[in-house]
Amino acid sequence: MASNNHIDLCNVRLPLLDERELYRLSIRDGNWTHIRKQEADAADPEVIDLEAWKSEQRGPTDGIPTLDLQGKILLPGYVDAHMHLDKSFSLTTVENISGTLEEAILNYSAAAPTFSKEEIKARMMRSALQALSFGTTHIRTHLDFNLKYSRDIALRTIEAALEAREALAPYITLQLFPMCPFNFMSLDNEAIEEALRMGVDGIGGAPHLSQTPEEDIDFIFKMAEKYDVPIDLHCDETDNPQMRTVAYVAKRTQEEGYQGRVAVDHLCALASMTDEDAGGIIDQMAEAKLKAVSLPAVNLYLQGRHDTFPVRRGVTRLKQIHERGIPIAVASDNIHDPFHPFGRGDLLQIALIGSYAAHMGRPADLRTLLRMITEAPANVLGLTSYGLTEGNAANFVILDGRSTEEIFTLLPERRWVYCQGRFVRSPGSKAEWNNTTLAQFWQGATQAVSFQKHEFAKG
Ligand SMILES: [Zn+2]
Repeated sequence: MASNNHIDLCNVRLPLLDERELYRLSIRDGNWTHIRKQEADAADPEVIDLEAWKSEQRGPTDGIPTLDLQGKILLPGYVDAHMHLDKSFSLTTVENISGTLEEAILNYSAAAPTFSKEEIKARMMRSALQALSFGTTHIRTHLDFNLKYSRDIALRTIEAALEAREALAPYITLQLFPMCPFNFMSLDNEAIEEALRMGVDGIGGAPHLSQTPEEDIDFIFKMAEKYDVPIDLHCDETDNPQMRTVAYVAKRTQEEGYQGRVAVDHLCALASMTDEDAGGIIDQMAEAKLKAVSLPAVNLYLQGRHDTFPVRRGVTRLKQIHERGIPIAVASDNIHDPFHPFGRGDLLQIALIGSYAAHMGRPADLRTLLRMITEAPANVLGLTSYGLTEGNAANFVILDGRSTEEIFTLLPERRWVYCQGRFVRSPGSKAEWNNTTLAQFWQGATQAVSFQKHEFAKG
């Protein structure tokens, strides 16, 4: 297959720069080398309509092609700052009848010993590829680390994840964050060090679920410093306005000089607090240079389950956190598992749900939401060489729409995904890969992971 790591693009619309203008872009060796506004009368001698582009029809001696986007939207590859790839597509075997976070955790934990490494890897491959097909080029995934049964069961997930990360590395970048289980201080916590030695990218957890949250947070900081890795915590994923582990995380971040290396996710409790209390916490987050991630779809689904009307909806204060200057991303969280029966790994869909949940629908809000699935999560992941700047890696998605309002309205299925020097997907069904290896991965993963519901045991 001919490489397309040298390519020019014209008539490109870039909502993250200036949507009123059209741009001309050049890619050489997979990097942006030219990003400029197009002259009004610029005419290319030979342009190829993007719709007709077939890289395999180019010979090695053909010149560098110019693809005409005809005003379509181009965004840097989406960055999903918070997924649970290992749990995805487990709803066939793990149910959640009450729809609460508590039952999801309980049932998934009970089922954990029955999952083989191959099954976990297939689920990760399937959901990561599905996300790639919609335009995601980088993912941070949290990983179940179930020490309740044995070290082997906990490490099985890590092994599966390391294999998936390696297989997918030429196409999509995965960051792996094992979650220290809550109340783990009495468990085999040396296993966490083993996971860190195996080469995961950081350390996670959900200290608000612990009976000893401060001790858990202290331990997580100790491990992070010992292995020199970032921290990413589920924080206060509850309607309880008194839950404020984020304040302790902010304090410890400053004490340890870990500013810029700690992400706090969910922050649902902030949505239940008074404005005054929430404002104070958001100030502490800003002072500690915490980064934030909101998971609007899953919060809408799981939170408020213990309320009678009026029912709280759990989504944190997106606008307020953003306006305070804290980088905040919106991300997918769970896909088709007991925590969330839906989701497809499409961050544009998540941005739309964020728009509903946070009342962000003005033109400026929609452009902010686009940053919340691109630049803000790239900041959370600590990516260098990301985004629309000359010299950076040219990973991007083109959407079949000509304004931000249009893509939020239509969530176009027709997308072109370019990563690491080539187009990997062109329009059609989401499984329509331009790459043989990806097509094989997709086939294997979709055969192994189905929507066919297993029979649940009665009783
Ligand atoms: Zn999560």
